[in-house]
Amino acid sequence: MGSEMKDLVIGIDIGGTKIAAGLFDRQGNFLVRSISHSHAGCPPDRVVEAVVQTADSLLADSGVTREQIEGVGVGCAGHINFDSGVVLANSNLPDWNFYPLRETLEKRLELPVILDNDANSAAWGEFRFGAGRGSRNMCYVTFSTGCGMGIVIDSKLYRGTTGTAGEIGHTVVNPEGPLCSCGKRGCLMSYACGMALDRMAHECLQCNENTLLKSFCGGGLQCGGNTLLKSVASEVQEHISAEEIAEAAGRGDPAALHVLATAGRYFGIGLSTIVQVLNPDTIIIGGGLTHIGPLLLDPCIQALKENIHPVLADSARILLSELWNDAGVLGAGALIWEKP
Ligand SMILES: [Zn+2]
Repeated sequence: MGSEMKDLVIGIDIGGTKIAAGLFDRQGNFLVRSISHSHAGCPPDRVVEAVVQTADSLLADSGVTREQIEGVGVGCAGHINFDSGVVLANSNLPDWNFYPLRETLEKRLELPVILDNDANSAAWGEFRFGAGRGSRNMCYVTFSTGCGMGIVIDSKLYRGTTGTAGEIGHTVVNPEGPLCSCGKRGCLMSYACGMALDRMAHECLQCNENTLLKSFCGGGLQCGGNTLLKSVASEVQEHISAEEIAEAAGRGDPAALHVLATAGRYFGIGLSTIVQVLNPDTIIIGGGLTHIGPLLLDPCIQALKENIHPVLADSARILLSELWNDAGVLGAGALIWEKP
């Protein structure tokens, strides 16, 4: 193989339940890719093991040697210090706090490694290869289990002073709102993410005098029958998924529609803050919840329009992700080419 093969990287996206990975060239063409679920909820040493195995398999399956790889870019959930390559905190996995992931992986992989958070990686992927191509000031916002953002300013990722720029999920949109995992009240994440949908659906189910569901419950012993959410909840005991809420909403259930409209509206308020503060040319919305479609996204766009200064109207293109699950893998790998 010729020296042009030096232009290959490996991108690895470490999520809460899966490791997605790929080996690709500068145009974002995959030679080989993989996905595994074996490490879910594991401590760091097990995840490192899974990442090393993943990289070895990619090399073996593609016939590419280590010498032909420029480096490995890793995107990981949690607070990451980009400069030190340390996972500062991962709210779902306490074992990860202050774990030197980049250094550990460099030793094990014997390749240069770059580590960034999952939102930055996905933002970079969309900027280089997806819906953000050709933009200069771009924000990528996830509307998923959580709510995060990656910011590109003047065609460079903006990470902030301590690497936590873009934490839009913990901006307060209602100081009297529900308690957030961070200890504050009424964070955007308390309304606009999968967990928030679940909470709001349960609130609707409580059948208190003030809940919207009350008028559809008929005041009987059970709320069953009239709201689809109730039947969904009794089947799964506790958790009501976004898919279930979307299905109920699609069948016209008012409570479910209310939940989606509320989540969409707050997400739109979050987007309005982004437009107001950063004046991007493009905002890309990604993450699993966006698949719900207009029932969620129409209230979002409406709220965005209502909450920005008229001078900023139509200043930013609002686009859906083009790369979806590939954004994190492609972005993490492509960050190797951005090394200072
Ligand atoms: Zn919070």
